[in-house]
Amino acid sequence: LDTISVKHLSKQFKNQTALKDISFNIQPGEIFGFLGPSGAGKTTTIKILTGQMHPSDGVASVLGVPTEKINEHIYEQVGIVTHNSGLYDKLSVYKNLEIFTKILNVKKSKIEEILKRVGLFKDRKKIAGKLSQGMRQRLILARAVIHNPKVLFLDEPTSGLDPSTQVEIHRLIKSLRDNGTAVFLTTHNMEEAEKLCDHLALLNNGKIVEAGTPREIRLNH
Ligand code: ADP
Ligand code: ADP
Repeated sequence: LDTISVKHLSKQFKNQTALKDISFNIQPGEIFGFLGPSGAGKTTTIKILTGQMHPSDGVASVLGVPTEKINEHIYEQVGIVTHNSGLYDKLSVYKNLEIFTKILNVKKSKIEEILKRVGLFKDRKKIAGKLSQGMRQRLILARAVIHNPKVLFLDEPTSGLDPSTQVEIHRLIKSLRDNGTAVFLTTHNMEEAEKLCDHLALLNNGKIVEAGTPREIRLNH
């Protein structure tokens, strides 16, 4: 069973085609990268696959659930990091995670474990609003994976981060992949996509113009 299956998906806004007949599959333990410039349709795809938007045409499913049937229960098995993944800025690093353990019914011992894994354990008492951008992104990622999701959606997870933090985030994403999580990530950075992804689709103007492993795609150029 594919973790994510997308067949002939299209999305039409009033006078704007955001996605046109896109298809792809993602397996467990695979990092699938959606590479494209701003406006290509990356965010729209994530919104459809997380049940926040309906397609105009085509079908897609996540963990066997068709997108039109996705409801909040999917969040028990899915993690999401997008641009508006806000933190509680007045609360500590630890509290920000604790809130999620309650919502997701996760053991509190997971907080310490994930803090160590993302390298924030010594900062657990810091106020989230005072973190550097890199630490903030690590906390957002920690929160998205504290319940060990089977699927992780990452919308431009390293954009705006310094190179060393990017490397750390990449390492973390790979370790999740190695534990069997299927990762769907978007980026407009070809170099990042090549380093990180097992499979890639190049998106332009809502269409997949090329797909394959980074190696296959490089050989075609
Ligand atoms: P990306 O994430 O790759 O930057 P988006 O998925 O946000 O691209 O957008 C794809 C296209 O669809 C863009 O042309 C964008 O302006 C348009 N679009 C996105 N959301 C809407 C919306 N709610 N209404 C109208 N057009 C939209
Ligand atoms: P991103 O930074 O992910 O590309 P945008 O800043 O383009 O996101 O879009 C922010 C929000 O505005 C999204 O919810 C998107 O669907 C919506 N949006 C984007 N383009 C348009 C548009 N042309 N008309 C209406 N809504 C849009």
